[in-house]
Amino acid sequence: MIMVSACLVGQNVRYDGNNSLNEKILRLVDEGKAIAVCPEVFGGLSTPRLPAEIENGDGHDVLEGKSKIVDTSGKDVTEEFLNGAYETLNVFKEFQPSMVVLKENSPSCGSSFIYDGTFSGNKIQGVGVTTALLEKNGIQVISEKEFETL
Ligand code: SF4
Repeated sequence: MIMVSACLVGQNVRYDGNNSLNEKILRLVDEGKAIAVCPEVFGGLSTPRLPAEIENGDGHDVLEGKSKIVDTSGKDVTEEFLNGAYETLNVFKEFQPSMVVLKENSPSCGSSFIYDGTFSGNKIQGVGVTTALLEKNGIQVISEKEFETL
């Protein structure tokens, strides 16, 4: 069993109401080999929703209270993102997947890159807050791009 981002398997849970379908990962769900999670939906955010980015840092900084997550209206959505991260960790603990594949660049799911907090499309090295929490618990997260190379 592996755990994957819900948007990667065609669920329309992205902020813009769309998905980021990856056929190879979808096949695993169809075969009963993967479980799909969306931390932002777990956190109580609606779909569609305003895009949000981590200000001044990455998910580890958010966990340490050094950074917050805001949407394009300026609303602080850190609590919702944190709630979603902890719920995702609960799902991990329940199912004990052997691998976690999350969507790159997301403020929740990114594992190598995230947007820089200026809503200008610039990316920086860093992880989303769900990935940070999983990593803090000793769980490795890879992106859909890394999964494609396996
Ligand atoms: Fe949900 Fe993560 Fe996909 Fe964003 S990247 S829509 S939080 S599963």
